[in-house]
Amino acid sequence: MHSPLVKELRKRLGHQNVISAPSELAAYDCDAFTVERRPPDAVVLPGSTRQVAQVVAVCRQHGAPVIARGAGTGLVGGCLPVRGGVVVMLTRISRIIEIDLRNRMAVVEAGVPNIKLARALAGTGYHYAPDPASEGASTIGGNVATNAGGPHTLKYGVTVNHVLGVEVVLGDGSIVRLGPVEDPAELDLIGLLVGSEGTLGIVTRVWVRLTPDPQDYRAMRAIFDTVDDATETVSRIIAAGIIPAAMELMDRGILAAVEEAFHFGFPPDAGAVLVIEVDGPTAGLEKQQQRIVEFCRNSGAKEVLQAATAHERELLWKCRKLAVGAVGRLSPSYFIQDGVVPRTRLPHILRRIAEIGQKHRVRIVNVAHAGDGNVHPILLFDERDRQQVDRALAAGRELLEECIRCGGSVTAEHGIGVEKIEFMNRLFAPEDLEAMNRIRQAFDPTGWLNPGKVLPVT
Ligand SMILES: Cc1cc2nc3c(=O)[nH]c(=O)nc-3n(C[C@H](O)[C@H](O)[C@H](O)COP(=O)(O)OP(=O)(O)OC[C@H]3O[C@@H](n4cnc5c(N)ncnc54)[C@H](O)[C@@H]3O)c2cc1C
Repeated sequence: MHSPLVKELRKRLGHQNVISAPSELAAYDCDAFTVERRPPDAVVLPGSTRQVAQVVAVCRQHGAPVIARGAGTGLVGGCLPVRGGVVVMLTRISRIIEIDLRNRMAVVEAGVPNIKLARALAGTGYHYAPDPASEGASTIGGNVATNAGGPHTLKYGVTVNHVLGVEVVLGDGSIVRLGPVEDPAELDLIGLLVGSEGTLGIVTRVWVRLTPDPQDYRAMRAIFDTVDDATETVSRIIAAGIIPAAMELMDRGILAAVEEAFHFGFPPDAGAVLVIEVDGPTAGLEKQQQRIVEFCRNSGAKEVLQAATAHERELLWKCRKLAVGAVGRLSPSYFIQDGVVPRTRLPHILRRIAEIGQKHRVRIVNVAHAGDGNVHPILLFDERDRQQVDRALAAGRELLEECIRCGGSVTAEHGIGVEKIEFMNRLFAPEDLEAMNRIRQAFDPTGWLNPGKVLPVT
C-alpha cells in the first residue's frame, strides 16, 4: 500500500524513479556521518530541473520535508532526513552542458561528480580549482551546497570563489536562475546560496569559473620527528610571505595506516609529514622551493623529498589523497571532524586533540589543511558499541569547543548539518540567528527544505 505522496510522485516521475521499499530506503538513512541514521519516506531520482520543481511542489502540497542529496559524502549529517520526508537524488542530473574557454566558464548540472569536470578539462589549459579530497565521488551541487574546500583552498579559495551562477528550485517549487555574473550589482544571492546546505533551495545547474592551469609546479614532502616541528614550519613559510598552493599535514597515526595500506616508504618513527606544493610561472619557483626546503630543514625536517617528475608529484599527492581511505584499516568506524583555528594555534590544538583523545579513551589520528589552520581529527571507534560511539561524540564536541576557545570555529569546509547545530547558539547571538532564519523564510516560507539543519530554530 503506497501513500498518496508516493503515488503522486510516481505519477510525475515514473514508477522506476521513486523508491519506497524499506529495504532500499535503508541505503539513504545517513551520509558519511554514520552515527545518526533515519531512513526517508521516499527517494526520488528526477532527470531534470523541471522534475525537481515538480517534486518540491508535490511535497509542499503533502507537507513533506525535501532533502537534496548528491553523492552522500557529506560529513555532518546534512542529508539525514531528521523529520522523514523525500530525499531528492541529483545524480541523474549530471551533464556537463558547456565548457566555454573564451569566457573561462563551464556550465554543469548539479549531479556532475567533481572529478568528471576535472577530467573533461584536462588538457584544455584550465581547471576548476575546488578539489575536495572526496573529488572522486562528491558532486558539484554538493560542493556548492557545502561551500567545499580542499588542499588547494590555501591559494585558490573555496567553492564560493568559483561559482558565477546557479539555477535553483526554491521552496515553493519555482525555478530561479541567478547569474552568471562576475561582479553582481545586486545583493549577492549566489553567495548566500553557496554553503546553505540545501536549506534555501535545490541547486540544479551551476556556472563555474575556470582557472588557468599554472605554468609549473614544485611539490615536496618533508618528514618531521614531531607535529610541533611541522606546524612551526607552516607558520614560518607563511610569515616569510610565501603562499604555497597547498600545505597538507599528516600525523604519526595516519601515516602508520597509509604506510600499512600503500607502502609509500615513510620511516616507522616519522612523527609528521607535510606535503607542500607551490605553483605559478616557472621563473621564481625554483627559488621559492629552495626557501621552503630551507625552512623545513631549519625546523628539524629529517628528510625533504622534492618531486622531480610529474609522476613523482602524483605519488606525493596520492599519499595525501588516499590517507582517509586507509583509516578503514585502523578501525571499523570513524568520523572526520572539521575545525579551524588561527594558523599559529595549530601546535596547541593538535596537542589538545591528543589530550582529549586520551581523556575520552578515543584513538584520534590527524590530517590537516595546515596552511589554512583547518584540522581534520579522525576519531576511531566501533559503531556496534554504543559507549564507544558516545565517547567519540563527546571527544568530537570537546575538541570543537577548544577550536572556539582558540579564536577559531567549528567548521572550515564540511558545514553544520545536524552534527554541529548545537554550536550555532554558541557562535551567534540570538539576533544573528533570527536574521538568518528570516532569510531562510524568504527563500522557503514553509520550511520544508532540509528542516532541522544548520539553524537551531526552524
Ligand atoms: C573521504 C572524504 C574526504 C572529504 N574531503 C573533503 C575536503 O577535502 N573538503 C571538503 O570541503 N569536504 C570534504 N569532504 C566532505 C564532502 O565530500 C563535501 O561536503 C562535499 O561537498 C559533499 O558533496 P556530496 O555531493 O557528497 O553532497 P551530499 O553529501 O550528498 O550533501 C551534502 C549537503 O549538501 C546538500 N546538497 C547536496 N546536493 C545539493 C544540491 N544540488 N542542492 C542543494 N543542496 C544540496 C545536502 O542536502 C547536504 O546538506 C570529504 C568527505 C569524505 C568522505
